[in-house]
Amino acid sequence: MTSTKTFPIPADAEARRAIKPVICYPPETLPRPDLALYQAAREGATKVAEVLVPAREAAVFEAEAGQFFRISSVEGPQVGDLNLWNRNDISERFFSGKTRALHGTHVSTGERLWSNLPYLRPMATILADTLEWYGIDAYGGSVHDVIGTRCDPYTGALLQGGHYHHCCHSNLTRALADHLNIPLIEAEPHVHDVLNVFMCTGFTRDTGQYFMKASPVRPGDYLEFFAEIDILGALSACPGGDCSTEHSSDTAACYPLRVEVFAPAEGALAGWQSPARNGYDGSHGR
Ligand SMILES: [Zn+2]
Repeated sequence: MTSTKTFPIPADAEARRAIKPVICYPPETLPRPDLALYQAAREGATKVAEVLVPAREAAVFEAEAGQFFRISSVEGPQVGDLNLWNRNDISERFFSGKTRALHGTHVSTGERLWSNLPYLRPMATILADTLEWYGIDAYGGSVHDVIGTRCDPYTGALLQGGHYHHCCHSNLTRALADHLNIPLIEAEPHVHDVLNVFMCTGFTRDTGQYFMKASPVRPGDYLEFFAEIDILGALSACPGGDCSTEHSSDTAACYPLRVEVFAPAEGALAGWQSPARNGYDGSHGR
């Protein structure tokens, strides 16, 4: 935010600033995932698919409800931009903004990725995060954010000019178009605000500006999810690499990312049900 001196400071300014905040959405009111059941099912699970996302490109993957998908760092520190859709109806997709409101600016083990309105249900639950040790650093930075949007060529054109074609937005658009066999112009509106996997970000305390810094991720680190519904996912290996300097160019060192999908053993999820779409009746008072 920018500060101006247009208006007078009220006499009780400090008193107003000193009012304690309240948490908008206390997490204890959210339905809780049965992590112990998921963990037990994961132990007997077997790998059914693997995709290597090339540097500065994106790739798609699918996971059925009840399966697990793991995103791993390989070769070098690399950030990934993740989009999720309901595989059976891609109008239902990951809702970064509400996930942020429910869980905070960064997500980790036990937290969930929620879908857009009118569905608003958990699409995936984070089951394991090897970077959970990082916490919140002295700058207010943390990993796996739901505050950034994705690097895109429009913002690049606005700020630097030119036409860079390997921003995450374009990578995700091409990958989705190829997978669904639809033109780019049809695929593009389905690309949405991402989960920034492994990215280390925050807001500066003095000016409230969005910042990034070198990701603490190292080869072998991973973020693993339980698929609550049938998932079509797309992951872009961001042209920013570890996002320590710049993105939207070919300057940064970039590495691939691996996505693996695991299926649980028969009967391992006994008693579990894929969540139904949101219970609101949709009448909006009419
Ligand atoms: Zn990016």
